[in-house]
Amino acid sequence: MSYRVTLIPGDGIGPEITAAATRVLEATGVKIEWETVEAGERALAECGTPLPGAVLESIRKNGVAFKGPLTTPVGRGFRSVNVALRQELDLYANLRPARNRPGVESRYRDVDLVVVRENTEDLYAGIEHRVGRFAAESIKIITREASERIARFAFDLARSRGRRRVTCVHKANIMKLSDGLFLECAREVAGGYSDIRFDDMIVDAMCLKLVQSPADYDVLLCPNLYGDILSDLCAGLVGGLGVAPSANIGENCAVFEPVHGSAPRRAGQNVINPLAMILSGAMLLAHLGESGAARAVEAAVDAVLTEGVHLTYDLGGNAGTGEMAEAIAARLGG
Ligand code: NAD
Repeated sequence: MSYRVTLIPGDGIGPEITAAATRVLEATGVKIEWETVEAGERALAECGTPLPGAVLESIRKNGVAFKGPLTTPVGRGFRSVNVALRQELDLYANLRPARNRPGVESRYRDVDLVVVRENTEDLYAGIEHRVGRFAAESIKIITREASERIARFAFDLARSRGRRRVTCVHKANIMKLSDGLFLECAREVAGGYSDIRFDDMIVDAMCLKLVQSPADYDVLLCPNLYGDILSDLCAGLVGGLGVAPSANIGENCAVFEPVHGSAPRRAGQNVINPLAMILSGAMLLAHLGESGAARAVEAAVDAVLTEGVHLTYDLGGNAGTGEMAEAIAARLGG
C-alpha cells in the first residue's frame, strides 16, 4: 500500500530539511508518493501568488501534507501563508509536543508537555486596519464554536494518550469578554471529562511557572496567540527549536511541519538541525496509522542523540543536516 502526501519544500532552510526528513521516512519502508507543490517566496516569483490554488487543491485531495517553513515578510508584504493554509483548510488544532530527549542538553528534566493551540481565530483572524497616520487597530475574534471545538480536542487528546491534566491558558482578568469566553467554554467542556484534572492559569503566570517547574504541567490549552508564544518557550525548555515538531489538524486534512521558521540566514549551508522536521514526519506516520514506523523514527532519533556523534551545531556538534539524517536512516536499516 502506498500513501499520497502533498510535499511543500518551503523557503529558506525548508528544502534542506524536507529532503532530510523524506529520506528518513523512506528508510522506514512505508511507501509514500510525494506530490510536490510550491508555496511561499518561490511560488510568488513563479506564479505571482505565495499560495497558488494548486497547493490547497493538492492538500484537499490527499488529506495530508508535509510542509517546510514559509517566510512571511515582517510589517509589510503578503499575509502569512502559514496562517492562510490553517484558515483555508480549517486546520483548527495545532499540536506542539515538547519533551526532554536523551542527549539533548536542557536546564530541566522530566518535561513532557503538549501545547494545544487554537489555530483559526484570535488576533490571527487578520482583521486590522490603520486609523489615520497615528493609530492602528487589530481585532481579536474568539467564538464559542471554535473554543469548544479546541477544548474537546485537548481533552480527547489527554484521554487517548493517558495524560492527566489540562490547563487552560488565558488573560481573562483583562480581556474579560474574549478570553473570558474561551475560558468559559473550556470549563464547560471539562465538565464532561471527570477523569482529567482541569485548571486554568493567566498567561503571564504560566510563563513564570513554565520556567520554574515545567515538569508540573501536562496539556496546555491555548488561544492562538498565547499558544504560538508558549510553544516556542516550551521548545526552549527541552533543547530549542531544532527539536520541536508540530501538527495542524482539521476534520478533513492535516499538515505536519516544524515549529520553527525558515531561518533564512542559514539557508543553503547544510547546517540546520533536521530533527523538528523528522519528528513532524513521525507525527505524520502516526496520523496515517503507521504507528510502528512512527515509533521506529522516534527511537532512531533518540539513538542518534544518545550516541552524540552526528549532531548539528545547535546540539553542540558539527554534523551537517544530511549527515544527521543519514545516521537516523541507517538506524532504521535504510
Ligand atoms: P526561525 O525559527 O526561522 O529562527 C529563529 C532562530 O532559530 C534562528 O537563530 C535560527 O537560525 C534558529 N533555528 C530555527 N530552526 C532551527 C533548526 N532547525 N536548527 C537549528 N537552529 C534553528 O524564526 P524567525 O527568524 O523569527 O523567522 C524566519 C522566517 O520564518 C520569518 O519569515 C517567519 O515569518 C517564518 N516562520 C515560519 C513558520 C512556519 O512556516 N510555520 C514558523 C515561524 C516562523
